Amino acid sequence: MPDEFSLAGKTVWVAGHRGMAGSAIVRRLAREDCRILTVGRSDVDLRRQAEVEAWLDANRPDAVFVAAGTVGGIHANSTRPAEFIYDNMMIEFNVIHASYRAGVKKLLFLGSSCIYPRHAPQPIAEEALLTGPLEPTNEWYAVAKIAGIKLCEAYRRQYGCDFISAMPTNLYGPGDNFDLMQGHVAAAMIAKVHQAKVDGRPTIELWGTGTPQREFLYVDDLADALVFLMKHYSDEPHMNVGTGKEISIRELAELLSRIVGYEGSIVLDRTKPDGMPRKVMRVDRLADLGWRAPTELEEGFRQAYQWYVEHRGDARR
Ligand code: GDP
Repeated sequence: MPDEFSLAGKTVWVAGHRGMAGSAIVRRLAREDCRILTVGRSDVDLRRQAEVEAWLDANRPDAVFVAAGTVGGIHANSTRPAEFIYDNMMIEFNVIHASYRAGVKKLLFLGSSCIYPRHAPQPIAEEALLTGPLEPTNEWYAVAKIAGIKLCEAYRRQYGCDFISAMPTNLYGPGDNFDLMQGHVAAAMIAKVHQAKVDGRPTIELWGTGTPQREFLYVDDLADALVFLMKHYSDEPHMNVGTGKEISIRELAELLSRIVGYEGSIVLDRTKPDGMPRKVMRVDRLADLGWRAPTELEEGFRQAYQWYVEHRGDARR
């Protein structure tokens, strides 16, 4: 399929290149004939408008991936609401507006599946956005990400900017945050099961009831989808990126126990929240464009565990 927006010879800024999604985008872009731009947090604080505008005016990329943000799992989301809404709003407003000012030709804004209402029909279609109340454990983050989608739509309508948005489902893989309190379930569970095996502990603890259903996408598949969208998608509606397949949190813990070789049992900590009872996305629109996630769940989690074992010392914890 010919590229509608070619990356060949272009300068591409990955905002948030040290994060899990951003670093996967950088890995994927290395296979493209483009120049990759990144900037460290100590040089430009993306929450500060003047710094972002000065840097973009000086560097003038052709294309931008907005993968920067303050992120975390269900506990981080519900206990750090101010950081989640402030940081994410400031970053996306600054990067998107400054990109418009600097004449960026294409921008992809990265959101999250938590933008959707708690009781959205499952699998969740893009049209479910703003049709009902949000899940309370992550509404701060969700409101910020919804604002980012609307910003891209508004700049497309008023200024004709080719700015698009993609909403990834729950991610896992290299570069994840393995902190037991701050991370998402996939990374936290990898770390928990591994430690329980090393320590010879008879049980691991799951938060909540273990019954919530989640969809998991390998982060390098996400990066591949985003590069695909950058080249082939140019329209106002945001695009879901996922696998369309789901498993329960208990099944995830069982799968990881099998991969790690852990034979203990699971206990539930019901003082912790479940969050959304079910969160799986419809991915038909992306499939119709021609992209499907290539990595099967078991294979992906084997690779993620391997990465964790090799990088435990320097992984964020
Ligand atoms: P969510 O998808 O936004 O709810 O975020 P998470 O990935 O943090 O949590 C997904 C589900 O896994 C929730 O139902 C959690 O209660 C459950 N869960 C079970 N054990 C853990 C754990 O150790 N850490 C996290 N973050 N979630 C866990």
